[in-house]
Amino acid sequence: MAGRQLIAGNWKMNGLKSQLSELTQLVEASKGGLAQRCDILVCPPATLVGEAGGAAGSAVAIGGQDCHAKASGAHTGDVSAEMLADAGASHVIVGHSERRTDHGESDAVVRAKAEAAWRAGLVAIVCIGEVEAERDAGETLDVLGRQLAGSLPEGSTGKNLVIAYEPVWAIGTGKTPTVGDVAEAHAFIRKTVTERFGAAEGAAIRILYGGSVKPSNAAELLAVDNVDGALVGGASLKAADFIAICQGA
Ligand code: PEP
Repeated sequence: MAGRQLIAGNWKMNGLKSQLSELTQLVEASKGGLAQRCDILVCPPATLVGEAGGAAGSAVAIGGQDCHAKASGAHTGDVSAEMLADAGASHVIVGHSERRTDHGESDAVVRAKAEAAWRAGLVAIVCIGEVEAERDAGETLDVLGRQLAGSLPEGSTGKNLVIAYEPVWAIGTGKTPTVGDVAEAHAFIRKTVTERFGAAEGAAIRILYGGSVKPSNAAELLAVDNVDGALVGGASLKAADFIAICQGA
């Protein structure tokens, strides 16, 4: 395990200002001792990053859900890593499967976005994971190997990179891989980053599991070897659920 576990919430395209009351409850829990168990990060929609950062103070880190590879320019509707950093973010998710699918993002695009995150001083959370047909065909590790090779920039370290293993078929479906399958995938990812970035950084890079994590399965998933935390979608929207997941760390 690479030090303290990180429990990260991805609100996706959910959250009006009123949703910040959930963040306030999380911040209170964090100050009340939850932050001693694990590092806590919330990634609200871009519209709320600034306000969320103000509400969270230093108790809970705030991240973006995506960034453009460029710092600025004629890219209507996009948000740059510099803008997220300016608004108070410390992390940004790149290569989430919903971005890869809905916006056709390739490994090369994801890699450029991770480099953009670094340029702005953000930690990049790079998501990888197989779709169900690839899993059924026994291709999971091949897919992960290809995505790691293409999506991770040179110079990845435990300080600038977090990897999230998210089997696409487990996202938002209520289905999860077996503990053995999670262990196998995370061991493969650990071996791959160790071979590429060296023993020290390979050990320090946090590898999160994501896909239908909820209070009832968090402790079991977080106890798996080489699982350094979780990326949580649906169950991060309610403070009580997210707090319960953090308590499983
Ligand atoms: C996610 O969107 O990263 C995710 C893991 O979603 P959920 O927890 O809802 O499966």
